[in-house]
Amino acid sequence: MVLLPIGSVEDHGLHLPLDVDNFLIWEICEAAARKAQDDILLLPIIPYGFEEHHMDFPGTINVGMEHLLHFVVDITRSVAHHGFQHILIADGHGSNMPILELAARRTILETKASCGAFIWPALAADVITSLRQSEKPGGMSHACELETSVYLHLDPERVQMEKAQREVGLPSSRFIWLDLMQASPVRHMEYWSSFSQTGVNGDPTLATSEKGEKIFNAVVDRLVALVREFRSRSRGQRIDHHQH
Ligand SMILES: [Zn+2]
Repeated sequence: MVLLPIGSVEDHGLHLPLDVDNFLIWEICEAAARKAQDDILLLPIIPYGFEEHHMDFPGTINVGMEHLLHFVVDITRSVAHHGFQHILIADGHGSNMPILELAARRTILETKASCGAFIWPALAADVITSLRQSEKPGGMSHACELETSVYLHLDPERVQMEKAQREVGLPSSRFIWLDLMQASPVRHMEYWSSFSQTGVNGDPTLATSEKGEKIFNAVVDRLVALVREFRSRSRGQRIDHHQH
């Protein structure tokens, strides 16, 4: 089972460093790999992601969507070429997800490997929802209650909580919102600076390291469970139903 982490270098408000998405997904994957050493081969992280909509904020580094798709598939194809049959792409940055879903699908269509992609909060949505205090939707989106809590748990000295500000800037809507825990029916992304002053979308003022610890441990446990299930998952045979 090969685990491929990917994050981003991206602004995360005034209170968090640029490395949030890389740091969190790497710590999650490394902790899971330590717990399940015989089950996980952990690849180096891809440290950059798709960020065009965040480029108004200093420090952000963007990889174009087509480049990223090709780059990720080049890696999964290499892994499959060496004989590995199970690949999971572990994402730390929301805007990578549509591209990673395509990369996983292309890997299945173009190699003998099975490949899936996930973003880490989705693995423990029930635990996160039970701890959540911020408004729904909108309170957990970016540099928010969720990301800030987990960062506070892992390295509190790099979080400047006195600079944390709540921002939920999108107009309220029945159909369009941004929330890591629940995607809106309509996918829609404006330039981030058009609705956020500091880069935050969500409520980091509600973050605590206690929440972060519970969430981190739950995500790591679920990742180990996912890996073990995915590794032993049976695959049906493809059958061509054309008449010859
Ligand atoms: Zn982030």
